[in-house]
Amino acid sequence: MPTLARDGWELESAEDRHAQHPTQFEIPSREERTELREGARVKLLFLIREEDGIVGCERMWVTIDRVTGATYEGVLESQPATTEVLRPGDRIAFGPEHVASVFVPASDPRHPQQSIAAKFRARRTRQIALLVALVPALVIVKFGDGMAGLVNAPPEELWYGSIAVLVFCLVFSIWNWRCPACGASLGRSLNAPHCPKCGASYSP
Ligand SMILES: [Zn+2]
Repeated sequence: MPTLARDGWELESAEDRHAQHPTQFEIPSREERTELREGARVKLLFLIREEDGIVGCERMWVTIDRVTGATYEGVLESQPATTEVLRPGDRIAFGPEHVASVFVPASDPRHPQQSIAAKFRARRTRQIALLVALVPALVIVKFGDGMAGLVNAPPEELWYGSIAVLVFCLVFSIWNWRCPACGASLGRSLNAPHCPKCGASYSP
């Protein structure tokens, strides 16, 4: 492992920094950091001695291309701003304790965009089920007198029951039919491609 004294840079333990500042500095779970594969991109903390002797920290991306037991090797993607001793393409060896964050591509189910799209689909499914439930209630409210004889029930009970269903559907719809990202009402369209208020996209 390179050291500040000998090489002018070294890796800082993200685990230690997280232990010191648990709320300001979050890191992926131990499990996620130990189960990385070739091709994963991770952000590491590089302590770098600058020309004036001050030690600064740069966060840079490394793409893993070798996994050996509990350690990783990868290629530095970024050009550090404060030193010449590291450059893109340099090989970096590190362990799970150094991983400050893991890059999640937009196609990954863990990406925030995927979860917004999935929540939107779930809300739309509920909304469609609601509209289907609404149809018989509307029919009864409109033609209740004629139907009461058919099902042999007092017209008032049918009518009140249907009004209760309508009110429930309205309240449920107001609660359900909202943007999963910002909570704004989604209006009448069932096929909104994105939020009219915050602009969040609902396509995966
Ligand atoms: Zn929104």
